[in-house]
Amino acid sequence: MVVGRFAPSPTGPLHFGSLVAAVASYCDAKSRGGQWLLRIEDVDQTRHVAGASEAIIHTLQHYGFVWDGEVVYQSQRSEYYQTVLQQLRQRSLAYPCTCSRKEITDSSTLLGIEGAIYPGTCLQHPTKPGAAAAWRIQTDAQTISFQDLIQGHQQHHMASDIGDFVVKRADGLFSYQLAVVIDDALQGVTHVVRGADLLNSTTRQIYLQQLLGYPTPIYAHLPLVLNADGQKLSKQTLATALPEDNLVDTLVAALTFLQQALPKNAQSLSLANLWQWAITHWQLPKITSA
Ligand code: GLU
Ligand code: ZN
Repeated sequence: MVVGRFAPSPTGPLHFGSLVAAVASYCDAKSRGGQWLLRIEDVDQTRHVAGASEAIIHTLQHYGFVWDGEVVYQSQRSEYYQTVLQQLRQRSLAYPCTCSRKEITDSSTLLGIEGAIYPGTCLQHPTKPGAAAAWRIQTDAQTISFQDLIQGHQQHHMASDIGDFVVKRADGLFSYQLAVVIDDALQGVTHVVRGADLLNSTTRQIYLQQLLGYPTPIYAHLPLVLNADGQKLSKQTLATALPEDNLVDTLVAALTFLQQALPKNAQSLSLANLWQWAITHWQLPKITSA
């Protein structure tokens, strides 16, 4: 059984970059006869924008996406995340950390893929009494590798490329890395098709899957849609919301970005017929990494 998913963060309306990820994960799952789930990743409530989840759901429906089962909201799943963190603590795989960002940069001697590697201070010394603690996963001298269907072979050395990473922040919010791993496993996701901005997160997610005894899905990281200035489309770069009309043209543009073949009359097809064509003719191997 193939299960794909689309997991937008409700930080604003869907833009063309998010449509590309939605279309690719949808066509991939549907062309394999699978299910496609919709999960709203609103775990980081500090970034939550009022009405954004409803707007995303409306836009997806409007563009003709049909998901299986109910929409899942991460904000309602804290108890699952807490239970798993508890297990990791009991197995001494997670530990509390009260270091400030500045203390970490001042004391770190190693540079990883995302900046200073946490030097393990709170593993060797008592944490600051009364200070709010984050929870970190202990990494080891292991290399995690995987074969991405689009980006090819990937690997990171957990201790020197990543370091002990945060799974629950000092403000009490669970990290994306932990939440996504638990949800993908509990929802039975077998195929993850998403933007290449998350490629570097994948080894952390596989590391967690291995600690927790979860299966590892197949991964395909899509090339990013860039604006005229070469920036990734996002709320920060003021990407415009998807249009409410010209649905067929917009979907054709997304499929063209994904290097999919289209019929000559694509623009004059109905939305339903274009979807049917896209799913029947979907070929993930046509997508190149750049
Ligand atoms: N919520 C993440 C985002 O919008 C995507 C998570 C994922 O697909 O794993 O960037
Ligand atoms: Zn610390």
